Amino acid sequence: MKTIGAHVSASGGVENAPLNAKAIGADAFALFTKNQRQWGSPPLTEAGIAAFKKNIRDVCSPSNILPHDSYLINLGHPETEGLEKSREAFLDEMQRCEQLGLDRLNFHPGSHLKKCTEDECIALIAESINIALSKTQGVTAVIENTAGQGSNMGHRFEQLAAMIDQVEDKTRVGVCIDTCHAFTAGYDLRTEKAFTETFAQFEKIVGFKYLKGMHINDSKKDFGTRVDRHESLGKGFIGIDCFKFLMADERFNGIPLILETPDPSIWADEIKLLRSFEK
Ligand SMILES: [Zn+2]
Ligand SMILES: [Zn+2]
Repeated sequence: MKTIGAHVSASGGVENAPLNAKAIGADAFALFTKNQRQWGSPPLTEAGIAAFKKNIRDVCSPSNILPHDSYLINLGHPETEGLEKSREAFLDEMQRCEQLGLDRLNFHPGSHLKKCTEDECIALIAESINIALSKTQGVTAVIENTAGQGSNMGHRFEQLAAMIDQVEDKTRVGVCIDTCHAFTAGYDLRTEKAFTETFAQFEKIVGFKYLKGMHINDSKKDFGTRVDRHESLGKGFIGIDCFKFLMADERFNGIPLILETPDPSIWADEIKLLRSFEK
């Protein structure tokens, strides 16, 4: 069975996210557990944590929730100060997941900022993950593929595999594939043949056993442009067929399938549309 939702607002407190997910008919969701544009945030309160745990009971199990970390964090930062700050903030994000009883945290791997090689950046990212895993329990670090904009790493399956390869605890590392990012990074998804080929490559290079979530987005930018601009399903360059193939494919069962499409007012309809494609 597929579990589908969207990256919903946690404005006013994390406990509001499951209510927002329920309101759109979701049985999975994503959220930020702190302000995603600030380094510091007040700690979660006991009351907020309790209310969050109570509110998710009506929506889904914790493993269908895919929290996303702050956009400021760069676990592959080539400079000591930026790296230390990122590692500290990432540990806080992992600990927030622990407190909320969540078992995975989704993040963009990092950027070399043209100040170190790709291999050096990958090694820093893996080391950052190892540090965070050694200080937490029960939370899997879920690396998201990127569009490869600027110096962002993780746009090739080989790069994701190289990161995983250097993580010590393979039971607590995974990946999230964003369809928009994959497409603009140069993995075609528009036809059944292209979709099959892309995920055959994914299986060969990374492996479905590491797949801990999907971001379900169409793309405002064309194939191979390496630009990250999400579009509502069927309205972008990927087109609706990709999502039909995905929903009919059992390899995507049991993991959070998360919309990050730009129009929240149609999320309920997009979820219904996706469910109508499920066989
Ligand atoms: Zn995404
Ligand atoms: Zn994106």
